[in-house]
Amino acid sequence: MASVELQNVSKRFGDFEVVRDVDLSVRHGEFVVFVGPSGCGKSTLLRMICGLEPISGGKVMIGGKPMRGVPPAKRGVAMVFQSYALYPHKTVAQNMAFSLLMQGMAKAERDKRVAAVAETLQLKHLLNRLPKELSGGQRQRVAIGRAIVRQPEVFLFDEPLSNLDAELRVQMRLELAKLHRALGATMIYVTHDQTEAMTLADRIVVLRDGVIEQTGTPSEIYDAPKNRFVAGFMGSPKMSFLEATVRETNGKKVLLDIAGTSGGRIELDVEEPARLSPQVIVGLRPEHFFPRVPMGPRLAVDIEFVERLGGENYLHAPGHAAGELVIRHAGDEGPAAVRGPAEIAVDWTKAHLFTADGSAVARRPAQQPRQ
Ligand code: ATP
Repeated sequence: MASVELQNVSKRFGDFEVVRDVDLSVRHGEFVVFVGPSGCGKSTLLRMICGLEPISGGKVMIGGKPMRGVPPAKRGVAMVFQSYALYPHKTVAQNMAFSLLMQGMAKAERDKRVAAVAETLQLKHLLNRLPKELSGGQRQRVAIGRAIVRQPEVFLFDEPLSNLDAELRVQMRLELAKLHRALGATMIYVTHDQTEAMTLADRIVVLRDGVIEQTGTPSEIYDAPKNRFVAGFMGSPKMSFLEATVRETNGKKVLLDIAGTSGGRIELDVEEPARLSPQVIVGLRPEHFFPRVPMGPRLAVDIEFVERLGGENYLHAPGHAAGELVIRHAGDEGPAAVRGPAEIAVDWTKAHLFTADGSAVARRPAQQPRQ
């Protein structure tokens, strides 16, 4: 399996630059997931790696070789699309074997490869069916099987599970993870789905407006987002943001006022408190509320809506003075799981801090906060 290297890659459609100076190294066997808002350039980047879209600037290398002028079929990559793009009049076996036929491979070898892959993907009993006789999940497995038989150096997936229902997505997600482990293949995967990104990726690449905002392991992206955009984009439900005023800095501590809190100022440990501007943003994930040991100021909220998911609830306080809040609450019915005003404990040690322009402020490892 091969590495993929992007050096200063850019793409323009006319005057519109949709990908700008992207630098990325994907290691052999790594599973890298591209995420970002619609239109940020994820698919374009994938298509440039594949060779379906010419690059406007920079360099794409696969397995250490520059790809300029190399057609898609010669790049050693296989792409799986959201629309499975199967040939409707060919059987599953013929669909899977087609690219091998085009390569001029002998029938015996083609049959052997298709049989082996059909076994892995549990498609053996479906080999003689037409695509219209398959379920969505089965069709997607055929599309993936068609990629695997080619034994590519690199797999490129463009939202391959988006057309499946929720249950099948979960099942196929697990199958893809197993497949990655079994093949040890280099995989680059585009998705809108946070869970797919968090669970499948060795590394996640977060894009915005054609630029990489952050690259990191799922836990780096989730626990240490570089800026407010990444913090707000990754996580479902999303992080809540509160405007805060810096009242005092003391050594490595900063004391903050946040509208709607009661019981004193909020104390956070940060690396360089002296560099903070007077106005900052505090970010709280839904799980940062209701700590086991209540500590620090509580937040007065007015819960307008409760989403009950069985095991847990999400409380929405959209009209809160400090901003819109989404709060996770354990599933058992408690006084907080109802609509109306409530005072909620917050685990401030977990809070993220951002400057007014959105850059993350380095927090010091959580220390015992004041009670
Ligand atoms: P989505 O998540 O909605 O699929 P994406 O992040 O994959 O979005 P791209 O499909 O890569 O985004 O598109 C990036 C930008 O390039 C978009 O603004 C899109 O409108 C534009 N674009 C894509 N293809 C073309 C084209 N052939 N001509 C002009 N603009 C294009």
